[in-house]
Amino acid sequence: SLKRKVLRVSSRSLLAFIFLFSMSSTCLYFIYAAPGIANTYYFMMQYQGMMLRDNVRTFGHMIRLYTNKNSTLNGTDYPDGNSSSEFVVQPTTYLPENFTYSFNMPCPERLPSMKGPMEVNMTEIPLEELEVWFKHLGLQYGGHWQPTDCKPRWKVAVLIPFRNRHEHLPILLLHLTPMLQRQRLQFAFYVIEQTGTQPFNRAMLFNVGFREAMKDLDWDCLVFHDVDHIPENDRNYYGCTHMPRHFAAKLDKYMYTLPYNAFFGGVSGLTVQQFRKINGFPNAFWGWGGEDDDLWNRVHYAGFNVTRPEGEIGKYKSIPHHHRGEVQFLGRYKLLRYSKERQHLDGLSNLHYSPEVSVTGLYKNVSVDLHPELAPISDY
Ligand code: UDP
Ligand code: MN
Repeated sequence: SLKRKVLRVSSRSLLAFIFLFSMSSTCLYFIYAAPGIANTYYFMMQYQGMMLRDNVRTFGHMIRLYTNKNSTLNGTDYPDGNSSSEFVVQPTTYLPENFTYSFNMPCPERLPSMKGPMEVNMTEIPLEELEVWFKHLGLQYGGHWQPTDCKPRWKVAVLIPFRNRHEHLPILLLHLTPMLQRQRLQFAFYVIEQTGTQPFNRAMLFNVGFREAMKDLDWDCLVFHDVDHIPENDRNYYGCTHMPRHFAAKLDKYMYTLPYNAFFGGVSGLTVQQFRKINGFPNAFWGWGGEDDDLWNRVHYAGFNVTRPEGEIGKYKSIPHHHRGEVQFLGRYKLLRYSKERQHLDGLSNLHYSPEVSVTGLYKNVSVDLHPELAPISDY
């Protein structure tokens, strides 16, 4: 009977242990792991709380946003601080099918070839197969293409940060390449691949990609593109505007809403001039999260607003994926508090790297091993 008693006590404490253990490991998971399907909502709530506090502090800024009537691209945009769905959708005025192009005239922005909703096909295919499919598209090395029946309005370098997502890349290129051709843009793709063992640094990869792309051509527009974001509408025009642009306004994984007003992740675009003015992306964000928020801050400190495509046009599907052991960047909140002070110390100005470059028929690959020492930053 003594034996039984011991057993009963221990089974109760075992239950208590299991309960406490699962509670604490759930907490730890939420704190350390990069948001996945399970804690996406936690991530959205956390930021909405942060933004609420921010908005109270910068009430003047909000008022300026609402009273600032900027004319925007296509007339289909809305200024930041507004959610698109509440806005009246403008009547679409795309050019008719029989529109005739002229090789010495700028390509229009609302072409008859841009039909609207696109079919998204998430089937995995090998890159080699895609290269065969794309034989007839007339791409040059690096996936470089330009229209010949009109003068492209923008020379767009599409930069894609990359590590170990080989199944995503062909799916992205399958959709983007024909879409950008229909938009009659000049473009090429740069896949910037991080090697080594450091945490992933999306922002620093973009800085590297920018520097490398500018060696090839005098690009005037940059699109920063996650590999797992597939546009659902080809009227989402990948040219730049007088303001930085957030293309990925409506993500399926956030139920086609913005997780928070200041969200600037997924797919964004700046002119080369704008990008230089804000000193590029920060280099100090190692691991998941925060670098897009810092870019948002930089853009606003430089006096810009952000535009987004209207309504349906800004829809994206994200390829489902796991964060294979990736961690959140917990230092991001501290860095974000000093966005303004760091803006001119950390970015294009303190960037060092040695790339390995190779070219395929579909994109240019830039491989870099990144370390914090490559972007030294003085005290602030
Ligand atoms: N990325 C990558 N490998 C990684 C982590 C990130 O290629 O291990 C790139 C990829 O382009 C991805 C982007 O960085 O789309 C953003 O990272 P992630 O998809 O992990 O962020 P989330 O979708 O969870 O916000
Ligand atoms: Mn993703």
